[in-house]
Amino acid sequence: MSYLANPARYETMPYKRCGRSGIKLSAFSLGLWHNFGGVDVFENGRAMIHRAFDLGITHFDLANNYGPPPGSAEENFGKILKQDLMAYRDELIISTKAGYLMWPGPYGDWGSRKYILSSLDQSLKRMGLEYVDIFYHHRPDPETPLEESMMALDHAVRQGKALYAGISNYPAEKAKEAAKILRELGTPCLIHQPKYSMFERWVEGGLLDVLEEEGIGCIPFSPLAQGLLTDKYLNGIPEGSRASKSWGFLKPHMVEPALIKVKKLNELAVQRGQTLAQMALAWLLKDPRVTSVLIGASSVKQLEDNVSTINKLAFSAEELALIEEILKD
Ligand code: NDP
Repeated sequence: MSYLANPARYETMPYKRCGRSGIKLSAFSLGLWHNFGGVDVFENGRAMIHRAFDLGITHFDLANNYGPPPGSAEENFGKILKQDLMAYRDELIISTKAGYLMWPGPYGDWGSRKYILSSLDQSLKRMGLEYVDIFYHHRPDPETPLEESMMALDHAVRQGKALYAGISNYPAEKAKEAAKILRELGTPCLIHQPKYSMFERWVEGGLLDVLEEEGIGCIPFSPLAQGLLTDKYLNGIPEGSRASKSWGFLKPHMVEPALIKVKKLNELAVQRGQTLAQMALAWLLKDPRVTSVLIGASSVKQLEDNVSTINKLAFSAEELALIEEILKD
């Protein structure tokens, strides 16, 4: 059946300016790292993309290696675009990345110009796109000169294969250097994508300040610590959950140590009249430097629950202090 977008899709979602750029992003963006690969149910992914767009999500985040197998999330997203969303292309912000292992040999990983630009060509082909909106260097490369990686991003923009450049997983100092190089090249860095959640707070030690100074947006990934910051693991590891799967990076042994804090946070969320997932997402959006929160979901229901966080974003000073108390040590 052909897809027709909800005419009311822009009525409830907040849109926040990305750093000091001209772009605004939906308060929530949808990532395709898990649940959109060749191992997943295509129609489930397709339903989530439709629902996300209908709820006002404009930004969909991919990378060359998302799957498994690597590349398959881009292929599936390409199919969904072609079937359903091409008429809305100008309403979408689509991103992809290069920086992790994608093909064998010395040119299929890290940060050389050779790798970054070939990878973008491959991503565009898989998605059936002429350009992506944001092209990221996925992680810093300790061996390639930073200038080379940033010149590759600048070149992608000048070729018209990307509209904006971004960086991901760059520590504060490296991000500052990258921002300077990109600015001098005439392609300002639009956005930084770091891991950030109640459980992962390294960005507060300098990166957020750099992003503010440089006018760069911030889009935290794994905001629910891959599902730990929800109520789903409170009574064990449910079948079909990320921690139960043989692929991916959330391993069963990571669940138990988190549960003491998760239980306490869950109690507070219930008192606030929302789920723990919603509280964890709202907690990220309270910082004005955070442009959009990059969620993952394995069902339309999760996506809907997470997006309805927008109905309760505010925290009292007491609640914030209690969260700090729970998270400390
Ligand atoms: P989250 O921390 O939001 O974890 C998402 C997972 O949590 C879901 O797949 C689901 O897992 C579970 N979940 C989500 N909502 C709920 C809910 N309401 N109730 C119960 N469980 C829920 O994000 P991700 O780790 O998926 O990362 C999001 C995106 O960030 C990625 O898709 C990718 O685009 C990006 N990313 C970027 C990286 C980078 O290096 N730049 C690295 C990693 C991610 P389940 O399957 O158990 O249901």
